[in-house]
Amino acid sequence: MRTDHVEYLPFSGWVDPPTDVQPALDGDVSCRVAVIGGGINGMSTALRLAQRGLDVVLLEAEFCGHGSSSRNAGQLAGAPGGDLQLLNLLSRKKMPGMMRLAEHATHHVEEFIAKHDIDCEYEATGNAFAAVSRGQMGRVGRVAKIVTRAGGHVEVGTSEELGIPRGFVGGMRETVGGRMNPGKFSLGMRRVLLDSAARVFEQTKVTDVSREGGQVVMTTSRGQVRADRVVLATNAFAGEWDVTPKHLSVPIYVIEVETEPIDPARIAALGWTSGMGLVTQHAIMENYRLTPRNTIVFGVRRLERGTSYPLPEKVPDPELVRELASAFERRFPSLADVAIERAWGGWIAITPSWLPVAGRIDGDVYYSIACNGHGLAQAPYVGTLIADAIVDGERHEDLQTLWQEKPSFPRPVMMSRSGLRTIWAYDRLLDMVNGSRRNARRGAVLTSDR
Ligand SMILES: Cc1cc2nc3c(=O)[nH]c(=O)nc-3n(C[C@H](O)[C@H](O)[C@H](O)COP(=O)(O)OP(=O)(O)OC[C@H]3O[C@@H](n4cnc5c(N)ncnc54)[C@H](O)[C@@H]3O)c2cc1C
Repeated sequence: MRTDHVEYLPFSGWVDPPTDVQPALDGDVSCRVAVIGGGINGMSTALRLAQRGLDVVLLEAEFCGHGSSSRNAGQLAGAPGGDLQLLNLLSRKKMPGMMRLAEHATHHVEEFIAKHDIDCEYEATGNAFAAVSRGQMGRVGRVAKIVTRAGGHVEVGTSEELGIPRGFVGGMRETVGGRMNPGKFSLGMRRVLLDSAARVFEQTKVTDVSREGGQVVMTTSRGQVRADRVVLATNAFAGEWDVTPKHLSVPIYVIEVETEPIDPARIAALGWTSGMGLVTQHAIMENYRLTPRNTIVFGVRRLERGTSYPLPEKVPDPELVRELASAFERRFPSLADVAIERAWGGWIAITPSWLPVAGRIDGDVYYSIACNGHGLAQAPYVGTLIADAIVDGERHEDLQTLWQEKPSFPRPVMMSRSGLRTIWAYDRLLDMVNGSRRNARRGAVLTSDR
């Protein structure tokens, strides 16, 4: 696979930044509720609050949709994020609630797209947990049992049965969800928000959150906002203030790359008839998905931990792009001559429990980190539920599932740079073992053919 002319994008490969970036806050304002962060989480919260008649201000450091909301792989997943075997082991009782939340979140986003007629190329293909080896297929079977027991809707099959590329052994299809252009989705949501009664200030970075006279005060470079309630919706950037609970989440940099356009006949020859987005069953997954422009977007495989705030603006490490290219050659050998055209990345938040969390600090500061790699569906849904909880004073059962009564979180384990490197090395070791087994099997077949 060719990687010699990759364009390294500082934003996203899905869309260009908007041309109508809104003016920054200039002066002091007051409101009932302030939302910090204009990703799909914060935008959903502000929009719902405005629709329900509350005076709401949203503060966004760059422009709404600037974060991972516009940069992700666009796989709208119908199952919880993270390692489901591990989650089942650590939080078994929570699994039915998490499953329900994940499916409701997916439907919520589908309804939002339809209601607001957002052109984001959404197709309800479902997504697949795809196995690259017999070992991973065993894991898929175990995960399918966990998901089904928790009330989820999945089907297990071979690659032919599921309509996924023949380079994979088989997998598990999540029947709920699909794929989209996440950049168009985020900017579409931004348009709906800007048309609402919410007051939106872009280019407005909050540098401090404090309390004064029974109100919460947000400080920016050119003014302050005073609010009765505030919602922290900054995802990976949440650790920037003292008010944020300790160990709430770990910021992780994740990348995606996109191939050049591929001849549709060559794509058809892959056997990818379902068009489903794929995630492998490595400890740190690889993801692969088709786009309407006949390219394949793929990524993740290695995680890079952010170690200090503010998190830096980054572009992907060329070494990781080359590593993704070598993985692509293994999964799609017939496309080994295709070039990677561009690469981008973004910051996500991983929680110590691998579960999305939401909660409240001292009655007036709300937070929600609904990510762990599955925020495309869950972040907008949880944002909407937070808004409803603020207005109604009571919580929907899906919000209750991830509600953290006390804002205290354990120190995250295996999330240090060396821990993440060890998990990555473990995946590569298994890849090597599986590769040798596959070669041995092929050798045995050739010998017996003779
Ligand atoms: C490469 C990649 C691939 C992914 N793939 C998928 C996928 O296929 N499916 C899926 O479900 N999820 C995926 N995700 C995760 C998903 O994108 C996120 O969970 C989701 O977008 C989180 O939305 P958010 O609104 O919480 O955060 P963000 O979109 O990150 O928004 C946070 C916002 O806060 C703003 N901000 C930060 N600090 C401040 C401040 N001090 N003042 C004001 N504003 C501030 C930022 O500018 C940003 O706009 C992926 C993520 C990445 C990076």
